[in-house]
Amino acid sequence: MKSLIDLHTHTIASGHAYSTWNENVQAARKKGLKAVGMSEHAKMMPGTCGDLYFYNFKVLPKQIEDMQIYNGIEANIYDYKGSIDVEEPILTKVDYIIASMHIPCLPKGTIRQNTETLLGAMRNPYVKIIGHPDDARYPLDYEELTAAATAEKVALELNNSSLHPLSARVDGAKCIRELLEKCIDNHTMIIMGTDSHYCEQVGDFAESYKILEELQFPQEQIINMDLSRLSYVLNK
Ligand SMILES: [Zn+2]
Ligand SMILES: [Zn+2]
Repeated sequence: MKSLIDLHTHTIASGHAYSTWNENVQAARKKGLKAVGMSEHAKMMPGTCGDLYFYNFKVLPKQIEDMQIYNGIEANIYDYKGSIDVEEPILTKVDYIIASMHIPCLPKGTIRQNTETLLGAMRNPYVKIIGHPDDARYPLDYEELTAAATAEKVALELNNSSLHPLSARVDGAKCIRELLEKCIDNHTMIIMGTDSHYCEQVGDFAESYKILEELQFPQEQIINMDLSRLSYVLNK
């Protein structure tokens, strides 16, 4: 298995990551990726960059050799309706939007509240990726989530960092297994993201590959396997 794409990476602009934009890009090249994206945290994450950061992507290269480069944003969902802390015109300026639940921005809810939260976020036409729906601190109804993602044409993320033993998320492997099984049942598209906060992690999906192979997850449901599938998650 070989992922061509990693759209979930952070740089020093996020405030708690340790590499630069260029270090991430060069690391992606070394790993042989064909598309890389930086997805800094939106404004409600303590210590992250301000709105202006997302207005100036025009100065950055869009391609290096045969690798495409994208600039997105990881939005914080801040209420149980699924509202995100990104508004126009940033919504239309960035290449893609990942929406995620994060402890500093959204209180832990019940399974019903968390599921409603993500269903609400997916109804936002700009949200095409739900980040790390794999954290037992935010329990989810995976049957309902995956069916809704298929209906809304939103990709659910398989987050490699959630499988790391030091991850702050809880029971990542168990949640991911349940998530992926329901994705198979409901024909839901997934996208692998490393969620790297240091450049060496960019494009490293070793833990994700293991679980996908174990479950014999259908390759045609993985965005990362084919560059043409990027249109599923990029801003129109
Ligand atoms: Zn996140
Ligand atoms: Zn992230």
